[in-house]
Amino acid sequence: MTGTTIQSGEVLFVGAGPGDPELITLKGLRALQQADLVVYAGSLVNPALLDECHKNCEIHDSAPLNLDQVLDILIAGAKSGQRVVRLHTGDPALYGAIQEQMEALDAADVLYRVIPGVTATFAAAASLKQELTLPGVSQTLVLTRLAGRTPVPDAEALRNIARIGGTICLYLSVAMMDKLVAELLAGGIFTQQTPVAVVYRASWPDEKIVEGTLADIAEKVTEASITRQALILVGEVLKARQQGVPEKSKLYDPGFAHGYRNSEGG
Ligand code: SAH
Repeated sequence: MTGTTIQSGEVLFVGAGPGDPELITLKGLRALQQADLVVYAGSLVNPALLDECHKNCEIHDSAPLNLDQVLDILIAGAKSGQRVVRLHTGDPALYGAIQEQMEALDAADVLYRVIPGVTATFAAAASLKQELTLPGVSQTLVLTRLAGRTPVPDAEALRNIARIGGTICLYLSVAMMDKLVAELLAGGIFTQQTPVAVVYRASWPDEKIVEGTLADIAEKVTEASITRQALILVGEVLKARQQGVPEKSKLYDPGFAHGYRNSEGG
């Protein structure tokens, strides 16, 4: 299963996962072990992952750098034949600002690939031991955020998203809990009783979980002093751990046939 994961002169955008260093993919880990140059997002990537780099690997934290500085490092490294890893938290496709980096690499004629990672939503669901799609409750998961420095298009304002109901996971928004609750209620589907879970630093040793309803979650988050690095999960699915599942999944239903199993009913 070994081999060259990353070529000389190539840039790999790698999802580091949510924090636990064992939650990077094997491909991502191999790329990291083979890299000559690593630029990592210092705020949320676990530095323990950098112990995997070989001793001559050049390592930069992107936190104090602007986009041009990051690009200069990536492009100069690749052009000089280094094997380059750009390590992003979670999955690089979500709130990772990789599109503009890839565009610049295209313009500079540098080859690149993307290795996915475990996004915070799935780490939070795992910590909660919670399925996000339950038959009869919700079959839809929306990943979104409130506007911060980055605006959110009007059509995707949280109150509009909240009209769908379903399960909603919010990134980058825990510092705005009052607004978040007001917007979710304004959609007209969720109520004061709708369950909410907030997971701070999912999969890290100092992970914290706060659970409540739209009526009390903002206060509970303030009491727990959580102001960043947290994910907010909202939806009726969160009741299942207390109240049981209302309908069993069709997937394992004895009367339901699918490609790999015949229906027991004939
Ligand atoms: N690409 C990342 C998201 C980057 S945006 C991913 O796929 O997860 C940064 C936001 O992600 C944080 O503000 C927080 O809302 C969320 N986040 C990232 N890691 C997290 C973790 N371990 N636990 C909870 N939330 C996390």
